[in-house]
Amino acid sequence: MKIAITSMGPTLDDRVEARFGRCPYFVIIDTESMRFEAIENPNTALGGGAGIQSAQLMAEKDVRAILTGNCGPNAFQVFRAAGVEVIVGMSGLVRDVVDRFKRGEFSTTAEANVPSHFGMGASSPVSGQGMGGMGSGRGMGGGRGMGRGMGMGMGRMPEAGSPVHPPVSPEEDLESLRAQTRALEEQLKLIHDRIAGSTDPNFSPKLIAVVDLMKCTGCGLCVDPCPTRAITINEQAEILASRCNGCALCLAACPEDALSIRARR
Ligand code: SF4
Ligand code: SF4
Repeated sequence: MKIAITSMGPTLDDRVEARFGRCPYFVIIDTESMRFEAIENPNTALGGGAGIQSAQLMAEKDVRAILTGNCGPNAFQVFRAAGVEVIVGMSGLVRDVVDRFKRGEFSTTAEANVPSHFGMGASSPVSGQGMGGMGSGRGMGGGRGMGRGMGMGMGRMPEAGSPVHPPVSPEEDLESLRAQTRALEEQLKLIHDRIAGSTDPNFSPKLIAVVDLMKCTGCGLCVDPCPTRAITINEQAEILASRCNGCALCLAACPEDALSIRARR
């Protein structure tokens, strides 16, 4: 069985990362052979929708279960639509979590255990290590420019009573900007790949967006984020099924929580 674990690093001996959408790595493991691959998460730089995009990524990798610390409602919705089990509350070493999973010690969760945007710009609740953030973390990405979720991580948040770090040097600042540029380029590539995938005649999306007409106000905020122009507004939002690739980018844009993802019938 192929499972994925959110991790702070690329090996089985790294610690589980509590955040799902912005974890530094996904370690994908075949539980029979214990062969694994580590994927650097391209969504750590996203201002919003990181959980949805990361869930899409895992669904595309055909994992059957995701083990993490916390999972928000949007990512959970994508996993449910894709038939992926979600197990939350994980901590410790990746290797130990896999062993415990194989011994059947965990139960699948029935719902998200944290609200939307949990962990955005915050340090990991387990690790205490920041991903840059809004200026308190030190190291690459520390409090510069794009702010939340950017940078290369590993900056430790100052503890109460600890000395205040000196301001970042121009060289550190420049390297931070370079790191942010790389992260944005990766993200852009991912979006282009999704658009390309949706125009491939052999591409057959498994998921589709649906509108809750009881909630939709017709505000139109979901139209621009859609990479395939699948949304039109006719007093309320309408999804063109032949164009929707199930990417879920529109979910994060809706202020009414009127959009959701489900499996295509
Ligand atoms: S409507 Fe557009 S943004 Fe929403 S899931 Fe479909 S393709 Fe993605
Ligand atoms: S953003 Fe939400 S409320 Fe606004 S039109 Fe789209 S689905 Fe409706």
